[in-house]
Amino acid sequence: MLTVNENIQNLIPFTSFSPEGKKTYVKEDHDLLKQIMENNKQVIKNKTSTNPNFYKNLAKGQHPKVLFIGCSDSRIPVSVTGLDAGDIFVHRNIANVVLKNDLNSGSVIQYAVEHLKVEYIIVCGHTHCGGVAASLEDEELGFMGGWINNIKNVYRQHEHDLKKLSDYDKKTALSELNTVQSVFNIVSNPVITEAWSKGQKLSVLGWMYEIETGKLRELDCRFESLDDIKKMKK
Ligand SMILES: [Zn+2]
Repeated sequence: MLTVNENIQNLIPFTSFSPEGKKTYVKEDHDLLKQIMENNKQVIKNKTSTNPNFYKNLAKGQHPKVLFIGCSDSRIPVSVTGLDAGDIFVHRNIANVVLKNDLNSGSVIQYAVEHLKVEYIIVCGHTHCGGVAASLEDEELGFMGGWINNIKNVYRQHEHDLKKLSDYDKKTALSELNTVQSVFNIVSNPVITEAWSKGQKLSVLGWMYEIETGKLRELDCRFESLDDIKKMKK
């Protein structure tokens, strides 16, 4: 009779879930991958040494108060916030762009607001953003170009002022404006306006992360009610 493990392996031949002595289809590990597996063991050891039920508690469900929408850039792990697993619901893409009609970020926002009842939606831009820098070039970017065009549109809206700035300031300012635009797009989402009209506690705001210092700072675009949107429209 097959064990449970063997059953799974027969169904999914490429699984690494191999019983002792049985042929595995997984290729030889690379050093970095081996290192990550070792790191994982250490992370579990550290976590459970202070809180033996840490993972068991996580398995019961999630109750994050924050939805963090950031750039995919590897230099900004959500650990910059000092919060732990289970504390932050996350969505990331190139240059933290949130569009009004994007199914991907739209689904994340809907789930976060309607089901998780997060209290904060934070869009976090950053200095030295490759996506923002690419939007200032004329290079043909293929598939990625369609995404980057959204940042080019933000640039065009503010071209008059941005043109006057030095290269670093221009890129940083465009990152900020792109982040603010994403915040504007979020607060016009019916999921958000409906939550506010029902009295749900929810703040939508923009942050910038400075890669060169590791510091977070808030941008002047925080929305906490329908009244805040009305003020914006004036
Ligand atoms: Zn970026």
